[in-house]
Amino acid sequence: MAVHPEISVEFFPPKNEPGRERLLAAMAALAPLEPAYASVTYGAGGSTQERTLATVQLVKSESRFEPVPHLTCIGSTEAGIQELLDRYRGWGIQRIVALRGDLPEGMENPGFFRHASDLVAYIRDHGNFEILVSAYPEVHPEAASATADLDYLVAKVQAGASGLVTQYFYNPDAYLHLRDALVRRGVDVPVTVGVMPMVSYEQTARFSAQCGAEIPRFLRLAMEACADDLAAQWQTGVEILSRQCQLLLREGVPGFHFYTLNQAETTLAIWRNLSI
Ligand SMILES: Cc1cc2nc3c(=O)[nH]c(=O)nc-3n(C[C@H](O)[C@H](O)[C@H](O)COP(=O)(O)OP(=O)(O)OC[C@H]3O[C@@H](n4cnc5c(N)ncnc54)[C@H](O)[C@@H]3O)c2cc1C
Repeated sequence: MAVHPEISVEFFPPKNEPGRERLLAAMAALAPLEPAYASVTYGAGGSTQERTLATVQLVKSESRFEPVPHLTCIGSTEAGIQELLDRYRGWGIQRIVALRGDLPEGMENPGFFRHASDLVAYIRDHGNFEILVSAYPEVHPEAASATADLDYLVAKVQAGASGLVTQYFYNPDAYLHLRDALVRRGVDVPVTVGVMPMVSYEQTARFSAQCGAEIPRFLRLAMEACADDLAAQWQTGVEILSRQCQLLLREGVPGFHFYTLNQAETTLAIWRNLSI
């Protein structure tokens, strides 16, 4: 059993000055977690490129966290990806989260890279980075089948990924099923648990419908019972997620990756309940 699971946090690039201030406050509040790294999301098709770069710099200059940029490849050119890799190497970046992303509306040409595995292979050959990739315990919503999704996940590892970070989920069995399936396929890279703090149930339900994270009936009913009380929703979400993380901790998971939504409070509450 892992005694000290690795903690990591995720930020998105803020759009304006108040957002930047909120992120700075969250970074300061999250310092006690001593995260192994702080990843920074990247809009597919390069839609947040400048803001992602600025946020990576902000994490580097304003915290002790290792900044880890996400990089999505769909709609990107080879030259554009190479330029970013060169820039990141110049900044001393050591790890990258390599993703496909979703084609932004109106953009029709997927470009040089079609799948995350193409980007992983490219980074392996043209950059000197540790590569992390996404995994979907409840199966990616576009996957042809669960078996095909697993095959492509294994392909990402074979292409050069050395760690997986999961999409968030509320069915811990789905995680354990994926973990065991990977072991049976001879894949032994860490499968870090993605944790999405539930700030508002309405927002979580919307995200979940898009990304294929199933909301169990007991959770939906618990949230609907306090639909008019945001504080009660928050408390319920913290309790349910803390219990899920405790259960996974006993299963010896290698780490937890908190999708912080640039807010510290919920992540901190769950982390305190984990007593790690
Ligand atoms: C940890 C994490 C971080 C994320 N960060 C971001 C971010 O910063 N920015 C952002 O825009 N999005 C982000 N996403 C969302 C992600 O971009 C979407 O889920 C996207 O739809 C898939 O990206 P992927 O890298 O998982 O794709 P892939 O691994 O390429 O898989 C996408 C789909 O294609 C299928 N597939 C894979 N390879 C092949 C192949 N060779 N042939 C046929 N089918 C194939 C898979 O089964 C799956 O259905 C993140 C998701 C996670 C879990």
